[in-house]
Amino acid sequence: MSATPPTLTPYRLPDSPSPGTEGSGYIGRFAPSPSGPLHFGSLVSALASYLDAKANGGKWLVRMEDLDPPREQPGAASTILKTLDDHGLHWDGEIVYQSQRSQAYEACLDALLQARFAYYCTCSRQDLTAMGGIYDGRCRNRPVDSHHQICSLRLKLYDLPDRPTAEIIQFDDLIQGTQVQNLRTQAGDQILKRRDGFYAYQLAVVVDDIAQGITHIIRGSDLLEVTGRQLFFFDLLGAPLPQFGHVPLAIQPNGQKLSKQNHAKAIDGKLASKNLWRGLEFLGQNPPADLADASTSECLDWALHNWQRQAVQGLSHLYQEE
Ligand code: GLU
Ligand code: ZN
Repeated sequence: MSATPPTLTPYRLPDSPSPGTEGSGYIGRFAPSPSGPLHFGSLVSALASYLDAKANGGKWLVRMEDLDPPREQPGAASTILKTLDDHGLHWDGEIVYQSQRSQAYEACLDALLQARFAYYCTCSRQDLTAMGGIYDGRCRNRPVDSHHQICSLRLKLYDLPDRPTAEIIQFDDLIQGTQVQNLRTQAGDQILKRRDGFYAYQLAVVVDDIAQGITHIIRGSDLLEVTGRQLFFFDLLGAPLPQFGHVPLAIQPNGQKLSKQNHAKAIDGKLASKNLWRGLEFLGQNPPADLADASTSECLDWALHNWQRQAVQGLSHLYQEE
């Protein structure tokens, strides 16, 4: 047997719950950011995560990712919830608001600093651009006075004290298949708390998925590339790993992603059944034509009985007229 350099050995993550054990233990979620109303792409993520949870006898939670006030739109959170409700996408339990979760985030940051898994970084956005967009870890051993210097907090993703080398992560996505991601060259140490004092998505999403006992994360393919680092973080925090499945991203015929930044049209709650029908069609479920005129509960009932997450297997994006 020839020796492999340690940095090239994929880190073997503990097994996720196998698909065969799905059932009542399933907890899924939809985690919108209230930067604007739901658009078709976010409705597709909501619908897919809802159907996958409910078709597997699971719970479906909604978490409001309101971590970034400067990018939020007043009223967007309640508009999103109203739109979900208009579409018959009723969530289980209480909504969790990330703006209320600072204590949990601080406790996690303290533990990470203590273990020397996290460190202060004084680099600016321009510094990061000069590094080619992937943070090179230069503040790992730089003494930083966090009380007097403007700094962010970063998580080490490789070469951690007392941890196996975990540079390459391999995982099986329920929809996109086997993925291999290099945390050093494709991710770089991640910001946990920003220079402006706000908590970063990468911290909050994992802390909250763990706190809520999420077992399955079905979401848009724009987040496939951050999944390796999130799995690594779950494992670092000693949590069981959820299964991930990434549905195709809705792309406009001009090649632009449907997103709030691109001012995608808001979903109209008065056209709920038609929207659900289009979402099902987008997800490859082949809904019968007359279902578009049925009630939302008939639409969802049909969808639950016919749900096939494999219908869009391996498709990272699909074109969709607004
Ligand atoms: N809040 C994130 C977004 O709206 C999604 C987070 C996630 O599903 O992990 O893009
Ligand atoms: Zn730095």
